[in-house]
Amino acid sequence: MRIPLVAGNWKMYKTISEARLLVSELVPGIQAVAGVDRVLCPPFTALLAVRALLEGTEIGLGAQNMHWELSGAYTGEVSATMLAEICSYVIIGHSERRAYFGETDESVNRKVQVALEHNLTPIVCVGETLEENESGRTSEIVSRQIKSGLDRLDLGSNNIPAKVAPVVVAYEPVWAIGTGRAATAIGANAVIAEVIRPALSDLYGDEFAQSVRVLYGGSVKGENAAEFFAQPDIDGALVGGASLKASDFTAIVQAASI
Ligand code: PEP
Repeated sequence: MRIPLVAGNWKMYKTISEARLLVSELVPGIQAVAGVDRVLCPPFTALLAVRALLEGTEIGLGAQNMHWELSGAYTGEVSATMLAEICSYVIIGHSERRAYFGETDESVNRKVQVALEHNLTPIVCVGETLEENESGRTSEIVSRQIKSGLDRLDLGSNNIPAKVAPVVVAYEPVWAIGTGRAATAIGANAVIAEVIRPALSDLYGDEFAQSVRVLYGGSVKGENAAEFFAQPDIDGALVGGASLKASDFTAIVQAASI
């Protein structure tokens, strides 16, 4: 059984002091919730401060991006070795990075490979734009993003991990991110069941495909979260806006608890 996971993507919000305040409001509400993995992804600058506050809890910590090289003359970048000292998850290929910072399926693939080599769990984001959706290209786009982004991974012996896969996928239709216009739970589940898991299965077999946690992301709120989590192929959520308010994020985490 795949344990649900709810991750908060804080994007470029929260200074260190604001991050400390938010974590101090969040921890009492979410640390006691059983049966769901919880991960906070603050900006790089707040990672250490948040890590200190999460010590002794089972709440995970993640970054929002990384470079595929381990060191070098890459001004402004952060590597997997640097992150691996601080956190255990990293978001890769978020649609905002694809849209504004030139992220491609190829760079996603390089980053995912390096993240795995350094024991970071990548949360790999895929999803179609509104135009791609309206022109009936959702399956083609999402399948390509999975097959290229997760190609040639070293997943250990037999490619079949014992329990859960070391990779998390987030299906985030671009038109649903930050718009208040979430996908329908049934529609999101269909993309995951009919496009994402088959693409994962083509890459590494069905057992692997069934072991990957696939999250939904895009305007998830306390009020609509349970509907998504009731779907058989949705294993949690990647949450943007609603992860910035303790009561909203706590309600989503509680809705995912099994
Ligand atoms: C996100 O940034 O990954 C996201 C899903 O944002 P929001 O929840 O605000 O739509």
